[in-house]
Amino acid sequence: MGRIYEKIQYFNEVLPSGVRLIAVSKFHPVEKILEAYGAGQRRFAESRPQEFAAKVPLLPPDIEWHFIGHLQTNKLKLVLPYVSLIHSVDSLHLLEAIDRWAASNGRQINVLLELHLGSEETKHGFSEEEILSVLAHDSFSNVIVKGLMGMATNTEDMDIVDREFAKIAALVRKVRSIHPELDDTFTELSIGMTDDWPVAVRHGATMIRIGTEIFGPREY
Ligand SMILES: *Cc1c(COP(=O)(O)O)cnc(C)c1O
Repeated sequence: MGRIYEKIQYFNEVLPSGVRLIAVSKFHPVEKILEAYGAGQRRFAESRPQEFAAKVPLLPPDIEWHFIGHLQTNKLKLVLPYVSLIHSVDSLHLLEAIDRWAASNGRQINVLLELHLGSEETKHGFSEEEILSVLAHDSFSNVIVKGLMGMATNTEDMDIVDREFAKIAALVRKVRSIHPELDDTFTELSIGMTDDWPVAVRHGATMIRIGTEIFGPREY
């Protein structure tokens, strides 16, 4: 068995039952995705609309596709028809555009709101106040906000990562206590990547997004 197969099996063994593995296949060829699929993996994520739209038709139809990259409103039609969850909604403008697309296509689209967590590398994401305000004025009939996503600062200092994940986990709890009506829907916390997923699991991640540890260094 190859490395990818073994890695999928490893995650299936070590992850607590409430944590789902999202295999991040961006910059990896279809053959590698099929290797993970052969090990039973069904949830995959991509981060670039063009690459996403090109890969989906080449792969088995029972794959559950996630989108985790920055999304511009003029690229929605490449992504929304195929996606089961968008993790990376980072502006009100994008949320409104997704809602309009979904309404005119007779769909409901599941999303997470991205909380900007400290690091300078990514400027994307809402502040805590913005997330509370979006949810307070929620008037989106075709978008379902399933929870929050965050990317910790890219650092070896796990104390920083720990603080950032604690902050986003606390915000999920706060939203659920302010909005009891969201009890059944606002349940997801997407945190944790190759270098910090054990910390994310400790903070109650329901999904971890793993690329490098499964597939190796990105190929293109
Ligand atoms: C690329 C990417 C990942 C996966 O990162 P690895 O360190 O390779 O596991 C996770 N989340 C997002 C948003 C990404 O862009």
